[in-house]
Amino acid sequence: MADLFICLDIGGSKILGAVMNEKDEILLRVKKKTKPELGREAVDDRIKSVIHELISTYGVGKNDLKAIGAGAPGVIDTKNRNVRYAPNLPWKDHALGRIMEEEFKVPFVMGNDVNVGVLGEWKYGAARGYSHVIGIFVGTGIGGGIIIDGKLFTGSGFAGAEIGHMTINTEGPLCNCGQRGCLEAYSSKIAITRELRAGIDMGMPTVLADILAEEKGVIESSDLKKAVLQGDRLAISTLQRAAYYLTAGIGNLINIFNPEIVILGGGVVEALEEEVLSLVKSNIGRFAWPHMLSRTRIRAAELKDDAVLYGARALISEILGY
Ligand SMILES: [Zn+2]
Repeated sequence: MADLFICLDIGGSKILGAVMNEKDEILLRVKKKTKPELGREAVDDRIKSVIHELISTYGVGKNDLKAIGAGAPGVIDTKNRNVRYAPNLPWKDHALGRIMEEEFKVPFVMGNDVNVGVLGEWKYGAARGYSHVIGIFVGTGIGGGIIIDGKLFTGSGFAGAEIGHMTINTEGPLCNCGQRGCLEAYSSKIAITRELRAGIDMGMPTVLADILAEEKGVIESSDLKKAVLQGDRLAISTLQRAAYYLTAGIGNLINIFNPEIVILGGGVVEALEEEVLSLVKSNIGRFAWPHMLSRTRIRAAELKDDAVLYGARALISEILGY
């Protein structure tokens, strides 16, 4: 008999699932599209089918599966295993935990995906061994997680640690959340794409002109990386601007939380790790107090696309003690 766990990263576009053992090794992975447009029951069924596939393909024995853990976007009531609200999924006050426990007859725990990702980095990645941790993930949006005194901080209603929506400039550009001047409106891929387009409209030459003319959505981190490494001046100045405001946000957090470590992850940081870290480190003294800063390390996240899977494993151990 073995102790096995199923860990899930449920996103708006795909569901990643993994079987993990008691040594926290990933033994098998399964990936499926989420298809939120098909509605709530269909999404629940697709999550169930990922779990069933993991169980049957790996040959998980009936008594071997100890628990299922998951990270999902939105406001997740970790205590009651409910989804209160999820912006990209057809879930509102949805008892996902109860539904999954009825189907699989094992405990099901879940949390906000970015919070869970930071938990993963804390237990298994770049923030191992620290008790005061801030995690910031820069992708299409900006997400974050906060660990205080060795405990994940989620606020009074499981919606806390929305690092991307701290106000950087009260008169700043409109953010996706409806407010103005949020960090996300300055340093996310949405913001970077907007600034690149503004530069092109002003007639600045860039190797990204064709890509941005074709693509309606946000720029791929890999395209931004290529342009920056080629020495493209618009791409470099846009990255510098995004990193400058990101550093202001990090400085606010350092002054408030006095963390031991700040970890930076997400698509933009993964693609341009050296550049972003060096820009942040060279500007952070402008925003954080020296005596706070002297205790704070700033590092890149380590777990990349597996952060939420490992975090789901960490959540199982935090809540259930396995
Ligand atoms: Zn916002």
